[in-house]
Amino acid sequence: MASLNNLPVLIRDRFKSAHEHGDLNFFETRVTILQCYGSLFQLRFSPALANKPKNTKPREPGERPVNPFLNPEEALLVTELGSSHIIVLNKFSIIPGHFILVTKEYKPQTELLEEDDVAAAYNCIKAYQNYGEELFGFFNSGEHSGASQPHRHIQFLPVEAMRTGIENELKWDILADSLVDSVDLPFTYFASPIPESPSPKKLHEIYLGLYNRACRIAGKPAADTSQASESSISYNIGITNKVMAICPRTNEGTPLDDEEHNSIGFVALNGTILGGTLLVKNESEWNALRGDKSKLQHVLGCIGIRHDIERKI
Ligand code: AMP
Repeated sequence: MASLNNLPVLIRDRFKSAHEHGDLNFFETRVTILQCYGSLFQLRFSPALANKPKNTKPREPGERPVNPFLNPEEALLVTELGSSHIIVLNKFSIIPGHFILVTKEYKPQTELLEEDDVAAAYNCIKAYQNYGEELFGFFNSGEHSGASQPHRHIQFLPVEAMRTGIENELKWDILADSLVDSVDLPFTYFASPIPESPSPKKLHEIYLGLYNRACRIAGKPAADTSQASESSISYNIGITNKVMAICPRTNEGTPLDDEEHNSIGFVALNGTILGGTLLVKNESEWNALRGDKSKLQHVLGCIGIRHDIERKI
């Protein structure tokens, strides 16, 4: 595997150059902090993304969608990791340095992660830690998980970049790191601590253990580790240097209404929710979630296996 020693520097340089040359689209966001039970969530909204014209060009009948990860754009390719993975910059980012770990050859996003996938993901996180920086990784798998690309990939967000520009003064941290302490949330999750210097085998065991717990609560078959197997559930994984967490998913999101019960949009969530952050698409959703604290609790209660708690926000 190629050395990842200077990964944070490499990512920053490549991001800057790709941005300056117009090879990637970076969207500024407004960001505020909301609370659900005792946990803090970043709410993000990008006015530029909301006003971006939709691509209305009709697809030719039978035309296959392009796989952006099989032959990634030169300007977005950061490095290769041995024969198994590559790292590319996210072409559409709202956090500077958002990058993606991709399998070199096509593998389905809906199959279970393999030992080399989780090991490569952890090595990226470790490379940031060696620079004194935090990195949050997330994986979206299945139709309700918020995934859009079928080629296997795990995404990463530099945490310090996530902390910039917060409108209120609250101190926000990555949610996953708090989940081993059984935090109350409206959705069911499972979390395991990651020991110091884990072997690839140990990391994979942690992943499979979480996955099997998620399958059990969803009433679905657990992993068949004797072969590459399709997941029986939709789920998100969140990973830091300390914790791996899973959220089994039953819905990508939920419609949102204003106070007069008029529909104002649909809030869709992916694995960033395990980092404690969500992005809305329009200003009405942004205002509604900021104006009524019960709305975040409602949204979070709709995405997975409900975990109802008799408790005020
Ligand atoms: P997901 O939606 O979880 O499957 O993640 C796929 C990610 O790929 C999204 O965050 C997209 O912004 C990103 N993406 C889409 N097209 C490209 C591309 N051509 N190059 C790099 N990243 C891309």
